[in-house]
Amino acid sequence: MSLYSRVLVAVDLTEDCKLVADRASEIAEVSKADLHLIHVIEPITLSYGGDIPMDVSAVQESITDQTEAYIATFASAYGIPFDHQHLVYGRPEREIHRFAMENDVDCIVVGSHGRHGLALLFGSTANGVLHGAPCDIIAVRVGVITDENE
Ligand code: AMP
Repeated sequence: MSLYSRVLVAVDLTEDCKLVADRASEIAEVSKADLHLIHVIEPITLSYGGDIPMDVSAVQESITDQTEAYIATFASAYGIPFDHQHLVYGRPEREIHRFAMENDVDCIVVGSHGRHGLALLFGSTANGVLHGAPCDIIAVRVGVITDENE
């Protein structure tokens, strides 16, 4: 029996992604599991509270196009096929949980920054994914955030 059957790696498009995807890919390989990749685009209206008195749809479309292209290149380096690449809109924690539940994911791999000082007071996406997760979570240590670099 294999360890996991469907592994989901959550990537935020920072330089840490490679570490996280490397680990997810290894886990999927030893488990002979399907590897899926998700990136959540936070809509501009969510990020800025919807207070912007202008039409941001063209900007949003351009962000989506660039992100799609980036994800396609990034995912193909790990042999992740197009139908395993998922670009969704919303809040990262919520959408990662939703995807995992709806698609029988049994392991989610995220990056996790060690946090010190004031940065400890702020939530992290990794924490958000851990709380209420519908399956195992593997948090890959990717660096340290302090209140100086947060
Ligand atoms: P953070 O807590 O924001 O530093 O993010 C830590 C990890 O959460 C990243 O390494 C990703 O695994 C995941 N993550 C953060 N933002 C996103 C996003 N927009 N889409 C998918 N995963 C994300």
